[in-house]
This record gives sequence, C-alpha cells and structure tokens, in this order.
Amino acid sequence: MAVENILIVGSGPAAYTAAIYAGRANLSPLVVEGESGRSEGLPGGQLMITTDVENYPGFPKGVEGPELMKLMREQAERFGTRFETVWIDRVDFTKRPFRMWAGDVEYQARAVIVTTGAGAKWLGIPSEKALLNRGLSACATCDGALPVFRNKVVAVIGGGDTALEEATFLTRFASAVKVVHRRDRLRASKIMQDKARRNPKIEFVWNSVVTEVLDVKAGRVTGLRIENSETKQSSVLDVGGVFIAIGHDPNTAALKGQIDLDEKGYVKVSRGTHASVDGVFAAGDCVDHVYRQAVTAAGMGCMAAIDAERWLETQ
Ligand code: NAP
Repeated sequence: MAVENILIVGSGPAAYTAAIYAGRANLSPLVVEGESGRSEGLPGGQLMITTDVENYPGFPKGVEGPELMKLMREQAERFGTRFETVWIDRVDFTKRPFRMWAGDVEYQARAVIVTTGAGAKWLGIPSEKALLNRGLSACATCDGALPVFRNKVVAVIGGGDTALEEATFLTRFASAVKVVHRRDRLRASKIMQDKARRNPKIEFVWNSVVTEVLDVKAGRVTGLRIENSETKQSSVLDVGGVFIAIGHDPNTAALKGQIDLDEKGYVKVSRGTHASVDGVFAAGDCVDHVYRQAVTAAGMGCMAAIDAERWLETQ
C-alpha cells in the first residue's frame, strides 16, 4: 500500500490552502474531501452552501462560495494535489504510518492534516431546508449584507453568543431584528447581552419554538410559525428573512479517542496547528469556534502545511 507523505482529511479553505502549500513543497498531498449528500462533510465545506462571499480578500466584487472553492481546488491541483471524494469514518493514529479508512478502503500517511470543518446546527424542520438560500441562512457574516435581507425585518433563532453577534451585525442592514429564543433567558455572555439589549433595532421574542418557516410554496421567507413553549399557543411572526444561529458542531466524530478534542469536540492544537499526536495537524473550523471565516481557515491551512512540512523534515 502506498504511504502518502501528507493526507489532508476534509475540504474547504483550510484543506485546499494546506494542499496548495504542501503541493508547492513537492509533497504531492492527497486530499480526501468528503462526500456529497452529507451535510457534515460535503466537498468544499460550508462555502458550498453559501451564496455571495464579499469578505474574502482579492474579490472586490464578491465571489460565490462554490466558485471560490472551485478556484482554490484548481490551484491545489496545479501543484500536484490529488483528490478522492470519500468520507473517512475511522482512523488509527496510535502507530505510524497513520491509518485511515473510508469504509473498507484503507489509506496510510506519514503526516495528517485534519480539516474536517464544522456544520451549522439546524432546527430540523422540513421548511428550513426548503428555504435555504431563499431568505434563510445559517451565517449572517456570509449572507447578511445580501439584498434579500436589506431593509427587512429579519429573525435570528437562538440565544447564545452567535445569535446575539449575528443579530447585532444584521442591524446594519435590516430594518429590525427579532431574536427568537426557546427560553426566557439568554445563554450568551453578559457583554453580548448588554450590547444587544442596548440596540434599538433588536427585539426579543421569548419562549418561542419555531415550528415552520413560511412560505415554502412562495419559495421565499415571509414569516415564522412559532409556538409558545409555556402556553403552547401558535402564532405567526412576519419576517422577510431568518438566520439560524443555534450553534455549530465540529465534524470530528471519527477522531474521538485518537487525538485530544475539547468538551465540544473541537480538535485541541498547540504550537500553531500541532494536534496531541505528533505528526497530526489540524486547521480550520474543526479547531476554531471563534472566528469561523474562510480567510482564517485558509490561514490556518497554510500554517498546518508549513508545520507538517517542517515536522516531516525532522523524521
Ligand atoms: P451556544 O452557546 O451553544 O448557544 C446555542 C443557542 O441556541 C442556545 O441559546 C440554545 O438554546 C439555542 N439552541 C440550541 N439548539 C436549539 C434548537 N434545536 N432550537 C432552538 N434553539 C436552540 O452556541 P453559540 O452561540 O454558537 O456559541 C458557541 C461558542 O462560541 C460559545 O462558547 C460562545 O461563547 C462562543 N462564541 C463567542 C463569540 C464572541 O465572544 N464574540 C461569538 C460567537 C460564539 P438554550 O440556551 O435553550 O440551550
């Protein structure tokens, strides 16, 4: 069996940037980029479900998420990266070379860069998926400035720091922002709460569970059907857009017990991008739950490739 120099697990800006750097270092990296049809690991990562990206430097007119991923992938390919569209579901990092499996197919590598990303949590109601990118988004930073949300009343679902950060950000574009939370108390930090409460454009809708996003038939968001968690009464909240901000989950299930993860499942790194096992590196949203941007993931991907290259030189 061929032993790869560097195997990059996952896709998205961190993976493709790591591949560009590893390729240019003549390491001929292999990227195993996940499988379509899996929300947690689709090739290209979360940007594949994003529309316009206006904050990635170098694209003054903006670029569509899938287009940006295609360009990064091509750039990696140009420097000798190989790709396989499979989902790694098991790893053994206890011995070298490291071993990984996609079903029955085994891969071996001297060094591994983990870039499996994270996925937005969803409410799990059918209307949500039907209206994705039609007035419904899981990323205000990515989509909030789009015309579809401008000067509209928009809702943000959730009560954590992400929800309040997104609500505050959205007040720049929306005419009003309604934070819809399932309880009567926020989970967010006090500083974020104070900031949101001071913002005259933000209103809180308490004890409210979203049961349906309207209007699937019309093909755009016109409102939310919500149920009061105490009285069980149902009502409709008129909004022209909705952001789901109920947290993210890192795609690290296959790594559990093999490298150190924090209590939420994010990969723990030290000295840049070194994971707890020597020779394993990690970058992007599977590590970072604070910044979560394409550009920060790309930056970490670059760091991981440089760390891996230097580590390989010492072996
Ligand atoms: P979070 O703290 O886990 O909060 C998730 C929120 O969504 C909670 O209010 C939760 O309600 C609600 N929720 C979860 N599942 C739900 C469901 N199925 N239906 C309705 N509501 C649901 O996640 P987060 O806000 O993304 O924050 C993640 C971490 O990143 C935190 O440690 C946070 O401090 C950090 N962060 C920091 C900043 C910052 O400092 N600038 C910004 C963003 C995130 P309950 O409260 O009822 O559980």
